[in-house]
Amino acid sequence: MENLIPFEKNRHSDSPNKNICPISSVVNQKGSLVVGGCVLSELAKRYGTPLYVLDEKSLRASCKAYTEALKKYYPGPALALYASKANSSLVLSSIVSSEGMGLDAVSEGELLTALNGGISPDKIVFHGNNKSDQELYFAYKNDVTIVIDNYYDIERLKVIVRPGDKPAKLMLRFTPGIECHTHEYIRTGHLDSKFGFDPDQLQDILKELKEAKWSELNGLHAHIGSQIFELKPHEDLVTVMAQAYELALNIGHNIKDINIGGGLGVRYVNDDDPPSINDWIRVISEKLKQECDHRKIALPRLMCEPGRSLVASAGITLYTIGSRKNVPGIRTYISVDGGMSDNPRPITYQSSYQACLVDKALEQPEETVTIAGKHCESGDVLLKDFPLPRSKSNDILGVFGTGAYNFSMSSNYNRIPKPAAVIVCNSHSELIQRRETPEDLLRLDVLPDRFIGVN
Ligand SMILES: *Cc1c(COP(=O)(O)O)cnc(C)c1O
Repeated sequence: MENLIPFEKNRHSDSPNKNICPISSVVNQKGSLVVGGCVLSELAKRYGTPLYVLDEKSLRASCKAYTEALKKYYPGPALALYASKANSSLVLSSIVSSEGMGLDAVSEGELLTALNGGISPDKIVFHGNNKSDQELYFAYKNDVTIVIDNYYDIERLKVIVRPGDKPAKLMLRFTPGIECHTHEYIRTGHLDSKFGFDPDQLQDILKELKEAKWSELNGLHAHIGSQIFELKPHEDLVTVMAQAYELALNIGHNIKDINIGGGLGVRYVNDDDPPSINDWIRVISEKLKQECDHRKIALPRLMCEPGRSLVASAGITLYTIGSRKNVPGIRTYISVDGGMSDNPRPITYQSSYQACLVDKALEQPEETVTIAGKHCESGDVLLKDFPLPRSKSNDILGVFGTGAYNFSMSSNYNRIPKPAAVIVCNSHSELIQRRETPEDLLRLDVLPDRFIGVN
């Protein structure tokens, strides 16, 4: 019989996005939280804090949930791509590749990480609303599919692909005009968005590309936003995409791929109840099949690009508790050795998280505290008014759900070095990202000669 943390009443092993904790989490006899067979407080001792911990079992369960649901519900070919902006690393590239998935990248850095991590170029798509010439050339040269986002992409690709050379493999991104209830900064599908062609431009651009020798248009793409808890917006998106697909076929394009982007939400706190991966894929698959049958057009390859839902719950960040400040009658602040530089989501999106004292995982809360970071910014708060057992300095705090958009959005604000990251599996922990040192941060500083020796 295994013990679960009190706020994790059920565990959904087949859909890790519905959990707060990694699926391998258990509490041992001493009351310590164990993930991937590793006692978290021992990891903190061994690698130092802050520390990003990734549970391999959760990652692979998420990949399998996507690939298996696509097999089960979509009668045509399909490919799930990991949206690597959620957390880009060699090890994640390698894991998603070994699970038969592809990857989407939005910069040369992410492309390089994917290629070096072993993802085959024909399973990579390259996004961006303002790609540089160098990035476009790099993607083209490596045979990666380029998602054209605007006329500027087209103008530059026309120059990059020389007459007689192989055409660039393209997908075309358009703005589907679908509203969904999520944070304003992470909505992308409504018409007032910087991403993609306006639907009114679609016909002209498709006609133009039909004549272009430098291009090979294989697919259509749209993405409506992130952390979405409803199924309806994606169902509606499929209808809009099927219309565009039919239009492109009528213009004479050999469209093979329909890519509906990512956006499935995850559970960060108790009240969050996102759909399962299985349900999300089922609804999209059934809708696309129905739309294609209705229009009497061939089933395309169905692509989707999960980011957050693939990695968020696999991640925990460990911090060491330091100072405590009680403001009588107002609140108690407990400060940790990281904060907005390793997790900018609370200060950026007012995001909420769950946490626990990893060696007191089953103890009842005794006080309500506000967990503050160490940065010179009053807004640097990781959890506001959160119930915890009584803690003291040097206790280890674990914050859940930090696998997505934490490391990838981390900064060196206040010249704080970035944390190390480890992956855990079968009672082993392995370093996947070395901890930065203050000296690393000086590596790219340049002091011009005339400043040397003057003070
Ligand atoms: C951000 C993004 C994704 C992934 O979104 P999630 O909400 O993390 O699943 C997929 N595709 C594109 C184009 C994106 O910009």
